[in-house]
Amino acid sequence: MTVLRKNLIDGEWLGEAGSRNINPSNTNDVVGEYASAGPEEAKQAIAAAKAAFPGWSRSGPLARHAVLKKTSDEIMARKDDIGRSLAREEGKTLAEGVGETIRAAQIFDFFAGETLRLSGEMVPSVRPGVGVEMTREGVGVVGIITPWNFPIAIPAWKIAPALAYGNTIVFKPAELVPESAWTIVDILHRAGLPKGVLNLVMGKGSVVGQAMLDSPDVNAISFTGSVGTGKRVAAASVEHMRKFQLEMGGKNPLVVLDDADLAVAVDCAVNGAYFSTGQRCTASSRLIVTAGIHDRFVDAMKERLDKLVIGDALDAKTQIGPVVDQTQLKQDEDYIAIGRQEGAELAFGGERLERETPGFYLRPALFTGATNAMRISREEIFGPVANVIRVKDYDEALTVANDTPFGLTSGICTTSLKHATHFKRNSEAGMVMVNLPTAGVDFHVPFGGRKGSSYGPREQGRYAVEFYTTVKTAYTFAG
Ligand code: ADP
Repeated sequence: MTVLRKNLIDGEWLGEAGSRNINPSNTNDVVGEYASAGPEEAKQAIAAAKAAFPGWSRSGPLARHAVLKKTSDEIMARKDDIGRSLAREEGKTLAEGVGETIRAAQIFDFFAGETLRLSGEMVPSVRPGVGVEMTREGVGVVGIITPWNFPIAIPAWKIAPALAYGNTIVFKPAELVPESAWTIVDILHRAGLPKGVLNLVMGKGSVVGQAMLDSPDVNAISFTGSVGTGKRVAAASVEHMRKFQLEMGGKNPLVVLDDADLAVAVDCAVNGAYFSTGQRCTASSRLIVTAGIHDRFVDAMKERLDKLVIGDALDAKTQIGPVVDQTQLKQDEDYIAIGRQEGAELAFGGERLERETPGFYLRPALFTGATNAMRISREEIFGPVANVIRVKDYDEALTVANDTPFGLTSGICTTSLKHATHFKRNSEAGMVMVNLPTAGVDFHVPFGGRKGSSYGPREQGRYAVEFYTTVKTAYTFAG
């Protein structure tokens, strides 16, 4: 029998069964049943967070440290179970699910430490006898809206700093992955958070998410998801004069130069484009390859792709799990059809696969002969699909890499210090990788992009303090 997971509002687990989540590796497998909040519950959650803010914001470092450290320890102790459950509901492989869970534990540990390191500044005023203090305070009620592709890591990297810096939270996870969201909230709740500090409202984006956007009592919103929803968050937030932070899409380039180590380049491309089923905003979807290595690179890619094991996410041998759901699968297949119509050659894969259980299996697709003007090179597909764009030299590669409305990550495979250095300095992306996949980042350093990919201060690491606090400058005349 499936257990009903409820919403957490003002310290109480509330709600009736509203939705189910389905295992994308086996659509006969129902992972769980979840309460679905409406606008009323969203309002109650926001009111609870507002009421809890004065207490939590004055709670001091020790109380916050204790909750965050305990949460980190429990997540780490349960990494195999939580990772498995994550892989079951999202479709990434077991190794990826456990890896993501460990990352969540590391993030809570990092921000537990940050609670003890919060500092300010004190300077003499230009007026004699006056002192000036600059301190940081929590922003208030933070709305956290997350996508399905990193069901535990993204909630962790928003919730942990929000709590560390004294904010209270209304958390709305993506509809497809409520189990991971519920698990993290359950752990934090049992770790000793006072009631109302963290509220969970599972439900539809258009209902619960929208109620958060429309509330004057939500003081900041941290959002990760699509460009379209990001723009709604931005417009609604300007209306209420609230702080907001957006992480949206990517169309990340990986440049491969003639002088690259071919094995390194293929590793980077296969990992960056196809691991996690290509469902990462940092995925390499444009492989920009210079003429001298192009044919060898494409042959080596096809050989490697042919060996990849695509199957049930919970099978330890699987390297690429299924696509997350039917809607995303249709989007991937539609873009594969669009690429062919546009004149790119489907050099490998792109077809549906049958496995023992009914699931959304798709063979990774590689286009060659793509141009940077094609829709498959300009629009985010968010699936296991990548295009090879042939260019003549480094200069053309850099121009093509930067010719995109996005700017999240970029990468270059080269053995030339000159080109690697030039690329790091001139790539119009928030994160640049040399001889590494465009996806896969550390948890203790800033994450974020430029142009249409991101808006607002960076997430993660010490830079998270910018978004989750507001600065106060206080003047004292002591006589
Ligand atoms: P994705 O393609 O990753 O599903 P979305 O932008 O649709 O991207 O979803 C990201 C998050 O935004 C999800 O939690 C979703 O429920 C939420 N969301 C969707 N529509 C709205 C909305 N109108 N207001 C607030 N949140 C929304």
